[in-house]
Amino acid sequence: MHAKLREVASASSPFKTVALQEPAWTNRTALKDGFIFDKIPPQKASDKNDPDLPSNMLVTPIRNPSVRNLTPKQIETIYWQARGHDGCFKCIVLLQHFFDLYPEDVQIRVRTSDGAEFTTLASSRCILEMTLLGPKLMTMLCILPTQLYITGDEDMPHAVMGFADSPGILDMASLQFGDAGRGVVGRSTFVLESRSDYVNRLNRIANSTSFTKTSARIRPCADDLWLKPAAKAKARWENRHTASWCGHCGGPGPELKKCSKCQDTYCDEVHQRAAWPFHKKFCAGMKDV
Ligand SMILES: [Zn+2]
Ligand SMILES: [Zn+2]
Repeated sequence: MHAKLREVASASSPFKTVALQEPAWTNRTALKDGFIFDKIPPQKASDKNDPDLPSNMLVTPIRNPSVRNLTPKQIETIYWQARGHDGCFKCIVLLQHFFDLYPEDVQIRVRTSDGAEFTTLASSRCILEMTLLGPKLMTMLCILPTQLYITGDEDMPHAVMGFADSPGILDMASLQFGDAGRGVVGRSTFVLESRSDYVNRLNRIANSTSFTKTSARIRPCADDLWLKPAAKAKARWENRHTASWCGHCGGPGPELKKCSKCQDTYCDEVHQRAAWPFHKKFCAGMKDV
C-alpha cells in the first residue's frame, strides 16, 4: 500500500490527530481497532519496488505515542488487519488460480496445527462460504486523504478452503479479527486446522456462523486479474530452493536467515521465533510433495 501508519485507536482510546466523522466508527462502543495511514509517495524511485511489509509500515522517527509503544507483534497484527478487509475472497481466488495451474490429480500433503497429517488430491478441494453473524471485532482502516475500509461492523461474508476427504480447514485471512484470527500454533498468518478447532475459532471471532454454500470454485471462470499473481506464486513455489522467501510472512529475500536444521529461511529472528512452534513439526526430515 506504500502508506505509513500515523495513529491507532480503539474503543477506549479514540483518534487524537484526526477528527473522524465516520458514524460506523464513532458510534460503536464495543471492541474496535482503528488505523490511520498517510499515503506517502515513494521518496526515491527505488522505493517503488519495496515490498509492503510490517517492517516498512512505519516512518522514523515515530512521533505518535499510540504507534511508538507498539511491540513488533502488534505491528505485524495491525499490518494484516489493515490489509485484510476483503482478504479472504482474494486469497481463495488466488489459491483457486494457483491450483488451476496443476493437474487435478497432483497430491497435496497437509498437516494441521494439531499434528494430523494427510495426503489428498488437488481435485478434492472445496470452498466453504459462510456468513459471520455478529463479528466480535470491528476494524477500520483509513488511508488519508480519501480511502476508508470498515470490516466487522455488520454480518460479514467469509470464505475458507477445505478438502472433501480430509479434516483440514485453511483460512488464509482471518486477521481482520486481530490475534483471535491467527493460527493457534505459533503466530502464523494463516490458519490450517482441524474442523473442530476451526469451529472453536469461529466462536472467538463471531457470535454465530451460518454456512451458506460449498462449491468447487468461487469464480465460475478465470479472473484475468489473478492469473499473473497465481503464475508468480507457482514459480516461487517451484524455485523455493534457489530463491527463498520468509517462512513466516512470505517476504522475499535475498538476505534471509536460514534455519539451522533445514532449508527454511526467515526475515529475521523475530519471524523465525514466531514460526518455530509450527515449523518444528515440519523441520528436518520434511520431504517435499
Ligand atoms: Zn518474515
Ligand atoms: Zn527448520
